[in-house]
Amino acid sequence: MTLFIINTCWYKNIFTFAVRLFHIAITDDLKYAIMPFKELDHWIHDYPLLDEIIKLKPVTWINTHRKKMMEIQSLPVNKADMLDAEKLWERFAPYLAKAFPETAISHGIIESPLQEIPAMKQVLENEMKTPFAGRLFLKCDHELPIAGSIKARGGIFEVLHYAEQLAIENNLIQPNENYAIFDSEKFNHFFSNYAIGVGSTGNLGLSIGIISAKLGFKVSVFMSADAKKWKKELLRSKGALVLEFEGDFSEAINEGRKATLSNPKGYFVDDENSKYLFLGYSVAAIRLKKQLEEKNILIDEQHPLFVYSPCGVGGSPGGVAFGLRQVFGDAAHCFFAEPTHAPSVLIGLVTGKMEKVSVHDFGIDNRTEADGLAVGRPSAFATAISKKLISGVYTIDDDVLFTLLYHLADSEGIFLEPSATAGLIGPQRIAITNYIQTHKLSEQKIRHIAWATGGNLVPNQEMDSFYKKGKMLAGIST
Ligand SMILES: *Cc1c(COP(=O)(O)O)cnc(C)c1O
Repeated sequence: MTLFIINTCWYKNIFTFAVRLFHIAITDDLKYAIMPFKELDHWIHDYPLLDEIIKLKPVTWINTHRKKMMEIQSLPVNKADMLDAEKLWERFAPYLAKAFPETAISHGIIESPLQEIPAMKQVLENEMKTPFAGRLFLKCDHELPIAGSIKARGGIFEVLHYAEQLAIENNLIQPNENYAIFDSEKFNHFFSNYAIGVGSTGNLGLSIGIISAKLGFKVSVFMSADAKKWKKELLRSKGALVLEFEGDFSEAINEGRKATLSNPKGYFVDDENSKYLFLGYSVAAIRLKKQLEEKNILIDEQHPLFVYSPCGVGGSPGGVAFGLRQVFGDAAHCFFAEPTHAPSVLIGLVTGKMEKVSVHDFGIDNRTEADGLAVGRPSAFATAISKKLISGVYTIDDDVLFTLLYHLADSEGIFLEPSATAGLIGPQRIAITNYIQTHKLSEQKIRHIAWATGGNLVPNQEMDSFYKKGKMLAGIST
């Protein structure tokens, strides 16, 4: 027995020795191609910020790869794609107004208000003890109709895009025909031959589930273990099939992709790779430009726009950032916010390994109350684009999300889900870096927008417990 153990050790030593030699003999790039994971201390040596990230400390990272628009040769999507996406939304407006009466007042356009939040700004300055200049606005995507979250942009867009494609291929619709016809027995029956699947931590499933079921598709939502119960129940009530997985989001996606694509008439909405989700999100920038103009808020390089977006897989903040850079050029400065326990896009960008690495590879657990952001691996499609376009990423503790939720409710009467509050501390996070000085900007002239990504579908009881938790964490007794 003893001999056996010695023997194994002996073999192991030789093996380790051989691996070391191999390591020395080949270049770094080749090494990662063959063995994608270097040892943790090597990673930390190469990228010291990883040490803090792994220790779950809140960090702020400035992206030195950000390019000026002039320097960008090509991206997998372009401005024309974004303008086409806007046109698709317009074609479907009569359908949406008919099928979802809550969108009738906006004539079938799914959009949210832009609101200045001076009282919250005051609270932030008092609480965080960091003053910041410029005006602070909230982009109220928690109010988006149908889905109550930013997923109403990407998710609904991708399903409409697919429905239109099927309708055209099957001669069900002519160019210039009124799309209200999509809300009909005939179309419902036609779409019932097709299946749509999606993997989701919750909100994407809600948006895809609701729109797909309304059009008549058979829709399956593959949900991760951390998805909230009420989201599953709501989906089932809308006619979606909900399948639950023990593992995290990436596993739900993998299972969903496999199951959906095994059906020849199955279409999978792939949050880790989707161009259409991305384009759906990007249209927000065109709408935001109009809203800023209506409020007489000038944006140019001297009066820059700083936007702070909660980030999960990186699709919604990436799509929005892409749109903003198309619309405002270098005057748009986009930052992502991730939970300290789920910094997937940050790790992908810092290491340059993008979707090849997950937070689990670095011993980070991907456990967060911010279910919309509980993602371990970034979107390949979105993150490759964000690398060139965005200004930085910061991480935030769950407790701070709840405190922000409480303060926003108390100061402005606005109720968000925990994920959606992550952008609110953006201005103060960036103020303590040298970003503003490096870019030679005048602090007073910055227009800050925290992107409020969700909240309106959260049941009252649930919201009440979020609020109470935030109040307690803020140290305010009841
Ligand atoms: C999905 C979601 C996000 C992040 O979007 P990703 O595309 O996953 O990066 C942020 N906030 C809320 C409320 C969400 O549902």
